[in-house]
Amino acid sequence: MRVVLLRVKSREARLRSAAGRGRIHPSFILLSSVLDNLAQSPMRVLIIEDEVKMAALIRRGLEHEGMAVDAAADGEEGLWRAEAVEYDAIILDLMLPGIDGLEVCRRLRESGVWSPILMMTARDAVKDRVAGLDRGADDYLTKPFSYAELLARLRAIVRRGWLERPTELRVGDLRLDPATRQAWRGGSEVALSAKEFALLETFMRRPGEVLTRFQLLEHAWDYEYENRSNIIDSYVRFVRGKVDRPFGVESIETVRGVGYRLRPDGGR
Ligand code: CA
Repeated sequence: MRVVLLRVKSREARLRSAAGRGRIHPSFILLSSVLDNLAQSPMRVLIIEDEVKMAALIRRGLEHEGMAVDAAADGEEGLWRAEAVEYDAIILDLMLPGIDGLEVCRRLRESGVWSPILMMTARDAVKDRVAGLDRGADDYLTKPFSYAELLARLRAIVRRGWLERPTELRVGDLRLDPATRQAWRGGSEVALSAKEFALLETFMRRPGEVLTRFQLLEHAWDYEYENRSNIIDSYVRFVRGKVDRPFGVESIETVRGVGYRLRPDGGR
């Protein structure tokens, strides 16, 4: 969010100097920036790809669309560039010498770079695609691809913008990784059953919100458990017994007559 505001400010500064006159209402700036992005979108894209020919081809095509394009020939240079400039999108090849695409993706997200990432992988490498998405990539493209598809996917991920999209959920010192199915309280890993995990994940996606038993059922159980709201009470007890009680905290609160709420500080 902070980044978006900065962007709006700099646009405002540009508009002011261009117009050479007084103040422009901030909401107009925001609206005009949204409209701009929907229309022709002056976009700045980074390509991280070691195959020179491939990189040049993509670059030429994108420049032809009016985008500003930078290229990096390996993971290290890619990391450096992506951290220096707020790119609207990053096209990241998986197979890179040195630091590979998966690691580049992981490090960027870890350092708070949320540029949408389109990952390029070899055909049929399902494992790579899954790993890429789990490490914070937004979409993938299998080689060889059509230029039209590259553009369409690029437009789609750019629409998501620079919002934080962490792969790991954090509430206070509770952490949960939906990809690896692991959960931690502080530095201690907590072993949860599939249903306990689903329940905790539901809470952690909506910290501070009171969730009814029905809402919890709806998100974490399938239809055969319909109308069995007492199952939620049992599972909340199990989860408390694993993530709260052994650590002397109380993160999941009972809201009498309504349901449960995960404290936004995670109980600490
Ligand atoms: Ca490559």
